[in-house]
Amino acid sequence: MKRALYLFLFATMILSFFSFTSNRKDPVPKQKVLRTVIIDAGHGIMEKGGHNGAKGSYSYEDEICLAVSKELVKKFATELPDIKIVESRPTEKITAIHRRAEIANENKGDLFICIHVNAAVPQKHTEISGYKTVTYYEGKGKNKKKKSKQVPIYRTWTTANPAKGAETYICGAHKTEDKELAIRENAPMLQEDNYKANYGDINPNSPEFEALSLLKTKQYFKRSANLAGFVQDEFAKIGRIDRDVRQRQVGIWVLQATAMPSILVETGYITNREEEDYLNSKKGQVETADCIIKAVKTYIAWLEKQQQNSGSTNEHAFSPATGTVNNFLEAIEQREKQRSKR
Ligand SMILES: [Zn+2]
Repeated sequence: MKRALYLFLFATMILSFFSFTSNRKDPVPKQKVLRTVIIDAGHGIMEKGGHNGAKGSYSYEDEICLAVSKELVKKFATELPDIKIVESRPTEKITAIHRRAEIANENKGDLFICIHVNAAVPQKHTEISGYKTVTYYEGKGKNKKKKSKQVPIYRTWTTANPAKGAETYICGAHKTEDKELAIRENAPMLQEDNYKANYGDINPNSPEFEALSLLKTKQYFKRSANLAGFVQDEFAKIGRIDRDVRQRQVGIWVLQATAMPSILVETGYITNREEEDYLNSKKGQVETADCIIKAVKTYIAWLEKQQQNSGSTNEHAFSPATGTVNNFLEAIEQREKQRSKR
């Protein structure tokens, strides 16, 4: 009887040992690293009509942004069907910039992808086209002499800027470069009628905004930068000119106001005829979306690896209070304060 008890205990021990080891081999079920992705087609048709965004020789930025975004939505549905997609600008109509950030935050997005098209100012040229004779006087009174001289006549003209290629932006610390792009991408926000009501006293060029941007930078920089790098890798693979990851020098508002990793893809130059044709073609739109979806897959694999290494899954799940953007910005600030107290 005693022996049977020992055997039973022994067997239990063996069993529990095995179940223990098998438990260890079998990690805790993985939490999905990417549940909701916000796709943000830049610009759109304004309330009072008219296109908002850059203009090419025959097409507009907002049209291309929407077409590429729609291709990206399709790719997500077929290739990553478990991920919930939210479109912040689903039709040709513009969505206010503060609303885009709100949509992203309300839906507890894990990733924010903005689709844009770049533009470069035309190049100015000058040449001497001939000379003309001008008369002038030297001396005073009786010594005054009439003289003449030849002066060049200049001809100036502009040609399309040859700049081309795709760039991916992430938000970053502020320097003075790249101001022009930021002004262009933020412009719709300043054109909104109720600018003050929606954004309060937040000025994208203010020190407060910079400070908040820095907090955001710290929280999401690594993830945004990695994804941006993956996107650029994919563009390079298909032979698009890889203009590399650009850290936003002056804040692009949507990138700063979303509480999640975010990237802004400038898919090419509408001011370059070859790229304008490419971005208006089905082939170009599908290829661009394909580069982004491949990069997202690489990003998921990287996040999963991070998750395995750290054992922590909650970091990306942070979602701020919904409602006004001001509340959200405050939430980030509070969170950072609490963190620094710990
Ligand atoms: Zn744009």
